[in-house]
Amino acid sequence: MDICRFDKSMSLFDRAAKVIPCGIYGHLSPVIRVPGSTPYYAARAQGSHFWDVDGNEFIDWLCAYGPMVLGYNHPKVEEAAAKQRKLGNCVTLPGDIMVELAEFLVDHIPFADWTVFAKNGSDLTTWALQVARAHTGRRKIIMVEGTYHGTHAWCTPGHAGLVPGDRDDMLYFKWNDILGFRKLTEDNKGEIAGVIMTPYHFPNWSDNLLPADGFWQEIQTICNREGIVLILDDVRTCYRLHLRGSQELFGFQPDLSVHCKTIANGYPFSACFGRNEFKNAASKVFLTGSYWFSGVPMAAARATVQEIKDSGGVEIMYKIGKMLIDGLVERAKGHGLKLTCSGHQTMPFVKFTDDDDFFLTQIFSAEMARRGIFVHPHHNWFISTAHTEEDVSRTLDAADEAFKVVRSA
Ligand code: PMP
Repeated sequence: MDICRFDKSMSLFDRAAKVIPCGIYGHLSPVIRVPGSTPYYAARAQGSHFWDVDGNEFIDWLCAYGPMVLGYNHPKVEEAAAKQRKLGNCVTLPGDIMVELAEFLVDHIPFADWTVFAKNGSDLTTWALQVARAHTGRRKIIMVEGTYHGTHAWCTPGHAGLVPGDRDDMLYFKWNDILGFRKLTEDNKGEIAGVIMTPYHFPNWSDNLLPADGFWQEIQTICNREGIVLILDDVRTCYRLHLRGSQELFGFQPDLSVHCKTIANGYPFSACFGRNEFKNAASKVFLTGSYWFSGVPMAAARATVQEIKDSGGVEIMYKIGKMLIDGLVERAKGHGLKLTCSGHQTMPFVKFTDDDDFFLTQIFSAEMARRGIFVHPHHNWFISTAHTEEDVSRTLDAADEAFKVVRSA
């Protein structure tokens, strides 16, 4: 098996560090991995693969950290986007595509009566909190400790640039701790505007946790009783879990729900869905952005959701995800290693069991990159409909070799 080198990536990063703070910022920053252990810059991408600037080809199990749900350069999405680009993208007025897409999506998501569009997850999770506050006239918001909801002050995992008041109205409980949630609602009766939660718990650097039996139903019952707006952050999950949103998989009904990473196959687009009861408040909370009415991402979203539906995309991702994690666990066992794959099979969080400092998982991830397989040591991976059984088989063969190195570490 070829061993990749990343010399051009490294020299580009040196240049970047001079003109961009951190060189590469956020969760893509190389400083949170073993430096030099993976490529830093991509040259092109197709299907389930990308090529880095050094010319190495990778099977990509990160899918751009989620958005590439149908794989890179999907012909139907690109065709729809190109057609809209010719008609007009960023125009003085919204295009008819906006209305058509809103009708299509509201019809598609069972609980939704209306939708609004933006460009990313953070702006809409924050907007949803404002809608909850406008609707209830209350201030406080509950969230699960350690959950990522975006880059805004109330939720960013960073510490710099915050002021003490930023989180004064936030209350926290632990995932699956329904007693803790109930206590917060009792101690703050009549003061809680909303609760925002992901469908299951996927912190970085830690095994992911699915909801306990009855957890979501209990949350919904308490919210309904106390007049608390139930906000689902489906930014990362959504159609990877269920064609009509993750609430369908776990059997509950949110009041508001934010979709992003599976909706437009890489085009900048997000949507918040809501029930009629919240439409009045939604119409009062100011919402706009420089590019938020651009038509190309909307056309891409229309084609993406249609294609996931027509191709049985969710089932494909379920199948490939299961093959991948079953195969990895089995191969690891053959080397006397124990692997834990937690969370959902279409976005598994993979680490060596009891490897609490991620030492072995970092080695594994680096050895996979050297063999043309892009995985992540402390973030969940993502499956797309473009991944094939051949991708899984090549990944497992590379894993066999990587496990040998881990075994000797
Ligand atoms: N919520 C969740 C669960 C996310 O995973 C993310 C992005 N990783 C966000 C919100 C924020 O989305 P964005 O990065 O598009 O602002």
